[in-house]
Amino acid sequence: MAAESGEMSGEVRVGLGFDIHPLVEGRPLRLGGVTIPFERGLAGHSDGDALLHALTDALLGGACLGDIGTLFPDTAPELEGADSRTLLREAYARVRERGFRVAFVDAVVIAEAPRIGPHREAMVAQIREALGEPDLAISIKGKRAEGLGDIGQRRAIACLVTATLRRVG
Ligand code: MG
Repeated sequence: MAAESGEMSGEVRVGLGFDIHPLVEGRPLRLGGVTIPFERGLAGHSDGDALLHALTDALLGGACLGDIGTLFPDTAPELEGADSRTLLREAYARVRERGFRVAFVDAVVIAEAPRIGPHREAMVAQIREALGEPDLAISIKGKRAEGLGDIGQRRAIACLVTATLRRVG
């Protein structure tokens, strides 16, 4: 965790988050808080929602609050199968306690399949709801890996997210 230095009201920061999970059979596919019909799902200790995990890390990073793995260890039995919206909500509460609010979220979901576009609005709604920020501007873009590597071979999905934070307190 990086040290916190000078505090200025109105200060703007951009936090960055990344996550990748394997795609496996026998799991529902959860992305952005939405269950997407697909033949496989993301493996993970929680529900495997790589988009919400990357967003959680972006928010924590912007507030210098560490990362999701430190806050919610994947060895914790109570987190097995956890709804990642709950982890996101708890992490954002800590970000708010630090004096920051999120002003903008930009995300890339790198997946060969399924297509992200048809689920974008539902994901945005889920994220706004989890954060308690009904008017938050959220951009979610799908990007294919053109057949390259594990993502291109449909063995994994990765997500990159930036979260713009403004200091309000
Ligand atoms: Mg994860």
